[in-house]
Amino acid sequence: MKGAVLYGPKDIRFEDCDDPKIIEPTDAVLRLAATCVCGSDLWPYRGLQPIDGPTHMGHEYCGIVEEVGSAVKSIKPGQFVVGSFATSDNTCPHCQYGYQSACIHREFMLRAQAPFLRVPNADGTLVPTPGGTPSPSLVPSLLAASDVLGTGWFAADAANVKPGGTVVVVGDGAVGLLGVLSAKQMGAGRIIAMSRHESRQKLAREFGATDIVMERGDEGIARIKELTKGIGADSVLECVGTQESMMQAIHATRPGGYVSYVGIPHGVVLDGQKLFFTHVHLHGGPAPVRRFLPKLIDLILDGTIDPGKVFDLTLPLDRVAEGYRAMDERRAIKTLLQV
Ligand SMILES: [Zn+2]
Repeated sequence: MKGAVLYGPKDIRFEDCDDPKIIEPTDAVLRLAATCVCGSDLWPYRGLQPIDGPTHMGHEYCGIVEEVGSAVKSIKPGQFVVGSFATSDNTCPHCQYGYQSACIHREFMLRAQAPFLRVPNADGTLVPTPGGTPSPSLVPSLLAASDVLGTGWFAADAANVKPGGTVVVVGDGAVGLLGVLSAKQMGAGRIIAMSRHESRQKLAREFGATDIVMERGDEGIARIKELTKGIGADSVLECVGTQESMMQAIHATRPGGYVSYVGIPHGVVLDGQKLFFTHVHLHGGPAPVRRFLPKLIDLILDGTIDPGKVFDLTLPLDRVAEGYRAMDERRAIKTLLQV
């Protein structure tokens, strides 16, 4: 088969690689229904995160189980399944607490920008869709559940979004936009999306944003304060991972409020004493998508949510390099790759 391999900054190649096979008895091999490019793929693509030689890319996936290892019990060939970017046994104490992305057997997925994929810890990682193989029109949304929706949902959950609460979302990438959708599902009263891009503002409103703030940094914070009568927001979702976005999030939150952070931090440094006097709760990390997958799959299958709308560019897998370029240049929110 052929898959996407990153060689260096802006150098993605679609080239021959080994067909995945069962290595551990707990593995499964999937035939993917679709895959996609993640905002986090852009960090190494831009050369902002070093890579150790040619790197197989991709960690978002759903599709049909082709084969399972001898120790796999609940997952069967022929099932349509959705998995997470972090594998988990779903039984260890961290998994039991709902932090499957900190599982003691965790492996971070790679190589999903390809037609076939090996998934370790199959039983604890993969969730079959009830009712068998879903309609192809639902594949983009199910694929979104694998990472961006699961991460946006965790952002809202970790920021303690409550019915009637005031929520701010920092970041208008796919995760931020799906953070808006998630906050709406959790009953937020007011959802302020921080975005400067017209097409993203439009989607944010479609997903439930009630206000748009275009200012950033100190001006952005001042604008949020103005919109909340000088108090700040109850819940702020930081979906970027830069120093500026983190400061914007912390200082837009009211004392006693909650900040979640789900973008991989790059160069973020917090001043302990300044943090002390903000009185905010901080909670983030790689999203435990597995905790939310069954619920998210149900919401997608019954038509309550349509997170697949974040894919505004669809390309065949062999044009993966173009998909990265479009996202890098912010011409696309998120690229879906047809396998
Ligand atoms: Zn575990």
